[in-house]
Amino acid sequence: MQTFRYIQAKSIDAAVDASGKFIAGGTTLVDLMKLNVEKPAALVDINGLPLDRIEPTPDGGLKVGALVRNSDLAWNADVRQRYTVLSEALLAGASAQLRNMATTGGNLLQRTRCYYFRDTNYKCNKRESGSGCAALDGFHRIHAVLGTSEHCIATHPSDMAVAMMALEATVHTRGSKGERSIPLFDFYLVPGTTPDKENALEPGELITHVTLPALPQGTRSHYLKLRDRASYEFDLASAAVVVQLSGGRIQHARVAMGGVGTKPWRSKEAEQALQGREANEHTLRSAAEAALKPAKPLRDNAFKVELAKRAIVRALQVTTQTA
Ligand SMILES: Cc1cc2nc3c(=O)[nH]c(=O)nc-3n(C[C@H](O)[C@H](O)[C@H](O)COP(=O)(O)OP(=O)(O)OC[C@H]3O[C@@H](n4cnc5c(N)ncnc54)[C@H](O)[C@@H]3O)c2cc1C
Ligand code: SF4
Repeated sequence: MQTFRYIQAKSIDAAVDASGKFIAGGTTLVDLMKLNVEKPAALVDINGLPLDRIEPTPDGGLKVGALVRNSDLAWNADVRQRYTVLSEALLAGASAQLRNMATTGGNLLQRTRCYYFRDTNYKCNKRESGSGCAALDGFHRIHAVLGTSEHCIATHPSDMAVAMMALEATVHTRGSKGERSIPLFDFYLVPGTTPDKENALEPGELITHVTLPALPQGTRSHYLKLRDRASYEFDLASAAVVVQLSGGRIQHARVAMGGVGTKPWRSKEAEQALQGREANEHTLRSAAEAALKPAKPLRDNAFKVELAKRAIVRALQVTTQTA
């Protein structure tokens, strides 16, 4: 049995000073503690902090507190109407019960679903640096084709983060050195030689909120998730697209993918292939081809390359077809 201290944080400063592992909804962390993957000496419960609001920002965007529950964010009227891709991504994730517990900060920081990471009988560089990677020679059907290294091929499993990547969200934090704002694009790290370092957070740094920029009038967005069964399942490939059309041409496009990258994957190559082009079949397919060009498929996950391309094309069709 692993023992740990439990601390209820009374303020943001107290949470940061407590030097423990934050617990929000607990839907990732408690699972991993039961599996002996996470073994925190102290749990800092942040549920009492005033970080559960969804508010407009002065520049027309949205501020989402780190403790906003996934279901509250998904069903927020402003999110449903203006940030459709985010609402759709959240509702495609987990189950209703889990979404009622899961928080915005916790969702961003959920850990990979790589079977070998979650089973301490196997070697895993992410769990124990330098120990090896059982997935490389093992069964890697659910693993990544983009951003991989010879040390780790695990995907980041969040749907919400993929939508936020396409929406160009910014993560705001408080740590012992003060406050920081980190564009989501720079927040996640590819594994390289240090798969255990997954993001830009310093030890003990708390996510306080996420901001979404305002979107130009007429912007359309969509999240498409492809998976082994229609609900309560992680993605094999997903696409989040945010598109602004004018006269049949694409003025602005943001494309992100889930299920295929070692982090929520934004494809600037796909965006370039769409920029200023007529929204026809050829353009959409060219963007999908550009997005997956850097892919490095393995024996069991090669099917994801074509699956992801089709997810991108279909999501773009939905956002560019005229009513
Ligand atoms: C059966 C099952 C199915 C699922 N299916 C999906 C799915 O299809 N799609 C999907 O996207 N997700 C899915 N999930 C994952 C789920 O979305 C996450 O578990 C959830 O979003 C995590 O949020 P939480 O608040 O419970 O995090 P916690 O478990 O409380 O925390 C997760 C991590 O984040 C850290 N943390 C939490 N809040 C903060 C903060 N404010 N600042 C700094 N660190 C923080 C914690 O220390 C911990 O390391 C599934 C989970 C389960 C159990
Ligand atoms: S793919 Fe990454 S998480 Fe999975 S076993 Fe290898 S090192 Fe661990």
